[in-house]
Amino acid sequence: MSAVAFIRSDLNEVVVSAKLWFYGSFATPDLAGKIVDEINNQYNEAQGRILIREANGNQSPYSVRFDIESATVSVDEVFNLVQSNTDYRNNYIRIEQDNFLKRSFMGNTLGGNVGHWLISDNLGESTTAAHEFGHSLGLDHPADVDLRDRELPPPIMAPRGTLVRSRFQWNPAVIAGEFGGTMKPIYRKVCAEEIEMIFAGQVFSEEGTLNLGILSNLVYDEVGNPYYFIV
Ligand SMILES: [Zn+2]
Repeated sequence: MSAVAFIRSDLNEVVVSAKLWFYGSFATPDLAGKIVDEINNQYNEAQGRILIREANGNQSPYSVRFDIESATVSVDEVFNLVQSNTDYRNNYIRIEQDNFLKRSFMGNTLGGNVGHWLISDNLGESTTAAHEFGHSLGLDHPADVDLRDRELPPPIMAPRGTLVRSRFQWNPAVIAGEFGGTMKPIYRKVCAEEIEMIFAGQVFSEEGTLNLGILSNLVYDEVGNPYYFIV
């Protein structure tokens, strides 16, 4: 996904603002609302902070608040929206039963503002949406997928198959790495370090805004192939 971050210096706060436009056979306002609740809750519970250099040259910690909204639109409407989009707040996600990759994905490259998600991923009742949101803001999977030393819940960007403490496994009773002995994704939580990583190396404009992610502006068909527009 993509998003726009802006500085509220009166509140010592950075707000990450985005709008997810859902379309496809399974896109309903109810599901859309659940998905953005999952994302907002996960990212706000992490209570991320970043250092902002103020006009007087001092660095101050600013809390990072996520304000993600949703809307549902028809497939016809989404073509018009996508073709004219220049705003990094806007993301377009198709929700279907299945696709050619057999999994929910965000489009093109890390940071793209389009996706094709599967209803079978328990969207809005799991951690899939929050994980995909992290990818779209430029986060990759951690290099270390053996987190057995970690007391805290696995980070949101931990991929399926990650080794974890037994209490975070599908089956706590089995040996790590055996069947059922990997991370159950529901235990993933956004951690403050992941929020810092979203902003690493980024520079806000003079007006205090920052575009995050990439506009790929594609529309997907039912099984996840992109339509290419003739311009
Ligand atoms: Zn991933």
